[in-house]
Amino acid sequence: MTVPRPAWMRRPTARPSLLVQFGSLSLVVVAVLGLVIGQQLHALIAERAQANARASAAVYLQLVQRAFFTPDTQSPSTGAVATPHQLSLSEQLTEDPVVRQQVLSATAWLADGLVVFSTARGEIGSREVLPASAKKALAGETVSGTADASRVRSDAYDVGQHASEQVMFVDMPLSIGGRSTPAVVVEITQDYVHTEAAIRHDTSIVYGWLAGGLLVLYLALFRVVATASRRIRHQSAVNRDLALHDTLTGLANRSLLRDQVTQALAAARRHDDHVALLLLDLDRFKEINDTLGHHHGDLLLALIGPRLQPALRPGDTIARLGGDEFVILLREVVDATEALLAARSVLRALDEVFAVDGVELDVGGSVGIAVSPAHGEDFETLLRHADVAMYAAKTNQTGATVYDPAYDANSPARLAMLGELRRGIEAGQLVLHYQPQVDMDSGEVTGAEALVRWDHPTRGLLFPDEFIPLAERTGLIRPLTLAVLDQALAQAARWATAGRPLAVAVNLSARSLLELTLHDDVAGALARHGVPGSMLELEITESTVMADPERALVVLRSLTDLGVTVSIDDFGTGYSSMAYLQRLPVHGLKIDRSFVTDLSGDVNEVIVSSSIDLARSLGLHVIAEGVEDRSTWDRLAMLGCHAGQGYYLSRPVPAEVFDAWFARHLDEDLAAVPGV
Ligand code: C2E
Ligand code: CA
Ligand code: CA
Repeated sequence: MTVPRPAWMRRPTARPSLLVQFGSLSLVVVAVLGLVIGQQLHALIAERAQANARASAAVYLQLVQRAFFTPDTQSPSTGAVATPHQLSLSEQLTEDPVVRQQVLSATAWLADGLVVFSTARGEIGSREVLPASAKKALAGETVSGTADASRVRSDAYDVGQHASEQVMFVDMPLSIGGRSTPAVVVEITQDYVHTEAAIRHDTSIVYGWLAGGLLVLYLALFRVVATASRRIRHQSAVNRDLALHDTLTGLANRSLLRDQVTQALAAARRHDDHVALLLLDLDRFKEINDTLGHHHGDLLLALIGPRLQPALRPGDTIARLGGDEFVILLREVVDATEALLAARSVLRALDEVFAVDGVELDVGGSVGIAVSPAHGEDFETLLRHADVAMYAAKTNQTGATVYDPAYDANSPARLAMLGELRRGIEAGQLVLHYQPQVDMDSGEVTGAEALVRWDHPTRGLLFPDEFIPLAERTGLIRPLTLAVLDQALAQAARWATAGRPLAVAVNLSARSLLELTLHDDVAGALARHGVPGSMLELEITESTVMADPERALVVLRSLTDLGVTVSIDDFGTGYSSMAYLQRLPVHGLKIDRSFVTDLSGDVNEVIVSSSIDLARSLGLHVIAEGVEDRSTWDRLAMLGCHAGQGYYLSRPVPAEVFDAWFARHLDEDLAAVPGV
């Protein structure tokens, strides 16, 4: 199932990511580490180069020592100048190509500054002030360092040519003739240019490896951290997702919906258009849950989002509030009509059956619509009003309904009543009162109209106008009609067994008449009580027939096939054409009580008399209802009315009271029709 993820999830965070923070910080650390290690290594390399220089100087020193200070040579401490042999040796040393490569110059001093040997031969025999390093060497240790090229004393070396170069010097003590304190210092200068180059070369290699290694380390670390950070981000996105989405369906939940509605409202205010909330409540969901179990219920709920998606625009949001309640947010709506059209396509999308785990489920729904700003300018208000509209849609069975403040007033009470009525019907709280119908010529009781009352456990006896309209709009009318038929026919059967067979008239609502099951319901009830169809009269109103004349005709024909008679109730209040009524299998007309109770009025009398004439000319039986007094009775009789019903004879009363009235009526003079 694909549920569109909201835009906020794709928006990058403004703060630098953890990864970037780690990346830059660790880069600094690695760079500093590299520098420190590099410097350390550089110092080691330089140190090693100097040690090398000292080692080669030591070799040279031995050469010098052997040349000058062998036991057969003069003791230098005498201060004597070099012999010709020594001079030639020094020459050899100076010229030796192997030596020359390592050593630029060599000088040997006695402690008093007498130069006993020098590669600058002219200096041999002269006396000088010892350099500081030479004095230090006389104390017994080898001193080395770098100095400028002037330190080189050699006939073969042109200082001027190398003025800017650095050289290395090593001053070494030399003990002669087994004496423990050094008597001679030998200073050797060496080329530093090559050493420096070697150091630079070695250092750059080390730096190269170091940098490469650290880079690899850094990249490896970065990779590990990047992967971890991606996982963390993913996990936190999942967590955020869970906090904002319904786990069962993956749809937006209430808090995400609230955010989105709030944003959409702000945008709508800027662009001067509207936001609509459609609250969808599934019909029969509880039934499905109860009969098939929660497993099927859950599966069904998960199918709703994907089913609705194609019926909506890509930018619309579907959310689940919980239970079987879904909310659809429509952005940028032109008007309520557009929202209503969207609601219709949502309901159409539910028309097709749902296949849930091998079971085919027929799921309808009711949609309540609230449109900003007329029905609210914030989420809570819009949702509340969409809810009210949804209940109105359910009650009136309209499918989709746009909010109207008029729905607000009594909806909660009405709702409570709906539940009570359902239970009341099941618990047998409906009772019938009977009102006699008497023939005007003979004074004979021809039938009794059954009128339903609800014996409400706390509110007492309720009259039909308090609960019939509710039942008509909610599908409770069928069980109600069945209950009334059942009781009325049971009473007809009792009267027949008592030897006073009496036809009962039962009122039918428009919805009942349009139900194709009506024929079977009536036939079943007749059979159950062993009452012939001729003992049942069904009263229908003109508007009932006119709601769907073709269908009404089919249902009525099937009823008259059972021997049941049908009469038009409340005649005169509707607009049915007489020509049409003629085509219906109708047995009688009941002139509406509004004309009869006030018959003295001119207009009413005209209506009543013309209705009687019309009915008679069509061969229909005419009853006047609402006859409240003797003069009305007489007048109607004069106008040719067949029968009458009303308080003048009796109010609608329970069966026992009716029976008592009936017994009295039979005893009395039929001509002088008695009242109650
Ligand atoms: P209706 O079919 O026109 O029923 C006659 C109504 O007129 C009854 O009201 C009755 O009490 C009243 N009535 C009878 N005689 C007089 C009179 O002399 N003067 C005046 N002012 N009123 C009189 P009720 O019992 O309140 O019933 C009201 C309506 O409820 C009925 O009108 C009928 O349309 C409906 N109704 C009653 N029972 C049923 C039922 O079982 N099923 C259906 N679908 N509707 C029912
Ligand atoms: Ca009636
Ligand atoms: Ca009536």
